[in-house]
Amino acid sequence: MTMNTKTLIDNLARAELVDMVPYQSARRLFSSADSDTDAKVWLNANEAPGSGEYQIKSSNINRYPDFQPDNLLTGYSNYSGLDKTQLLATRGADEGIELVIKTFCKAYQDSILICSPTYGMYSISAQAQGVNVIDVPMISNTLDIDGIKAVAEQVKVVFLCSPGNPTGNLLPESQILDTLAIFQEKAIVVVDEAYIEFSPQNSMQKLLNQYDNLVVLRTLSKAFGLAGLRCGFTLSNPAIITMMSKVIAPYPIAAPVADIASQSLSASGIKAMQQDVTTLNQLKQDFSQWLSEQQWCKRVFPSDANFVLFECDDKDGLFDLLKAQNILIRDQSKQVQLRNCLRISIGNEYELSLVKNTITQALANTSAKTLKV
Ligand SMILES: *Cc1c(COP(=O)(O)O)cnc(C)c1O
Repeated sequence: MTMNTKTLIDNLARAELVDMVPYQSARRLFSSADSDTDAKVWLNANEAPGSGEYQIKSSNINRYPDFQPDNLLTGYSNYSGLDKTQLLATRGADEGIELVIKTFCKAYQDSILICSPTYGMYSISAQAQGVNVIDVPMISNTLDIDGIKAVAEQVKVVFLCSPGNPTGNLLPESQILDTLAIFQEKAIVVVDEAYIEFSPQNSMQKLLNQYDNLVVLRTLSKAFGLAGLRCGFTLSNPAIITMMSKVIAPYPIAAPVADIASQSLSASGIKAMQQDVTTLNQLKQDFSQWLSEQQWCKRVFPSDANFVLFECDDKDGLFDLLKAQNILIRDQSKQVQLRNCLRISIGNEYELSLVKNTITQALANTSAKTLKV
């Protein structure tokens, strides 16, 4: 591309996109096309460590799929106990985020509210749609309710993440109720429950009948082990689902996606997911315990999800040490309040023992308590 083409496109594009940095997803930072993918230990995107087996039907692939494939909605309706009119299947929960903003926010006029540190896609999605972002940072891992109240008149959509990413903890239910009350007549409150299967008793789904402004986001990418499928769900009341259906693409769910997703939502699929969750929760507890016993580890955040955030002496040293052994974790140190913090996904037992052994050996070799390598 010549210089002139770039200048031309910069001039033609929406001005705010020119300097916008796209979401630095785990897979953009380290692509699966990297030469020795098989040798890599992927603990940077909170994916499941293994995959199930699925069948795909190709007999109808010449036809457009249903707008909302019935086998898929029936599966999620059975799993969640909600009526199909309260569900919208989307291309991942990320599309749910985008659609809520698209449905409720006017470009160059409206704002969303986020409470950082939080999931990066809320503000990226808002920016990409010309929507303003107001941030009321959390205070020691809980919401700043007074700060939120102070901006209540200025926002159309509020994004809460529970369990939080990258922090890992659930928000107190009382604070979610406070937020719903503050915005009851004013704005949509989204509770992103991408990780709720790891602590299912804490879902806010039960509040859907009580609050007209509540939206719950879910995904098959984490506990269900289907990140590559790109399938998520928006849970809300029929009025919100109908409104969001106006701005979604005409055929948002590919037929093979519906086939695989509906198998994962069968009784046996759900049972397998729940067994995986039990295993991962136990591994997480053991790994958190191990971390808390390490001298170089300054703080281990409590986790209700399938990853652990921790603060350490020398986060670059640790990150690079693991990377040199093809173990990829996620640096979260650029987020507010998370200096020196790294996030590690709970993989399988073998992967976590590799992490522990790599660190233990490096420490033994340097005889240092920190991790300069
Ligand atoms: C992973 C994740 C998502 C996105 O899920 P997809 O269904 O893969 O798009 C949304 N929110 C949070 C908090 C996540 O961690």
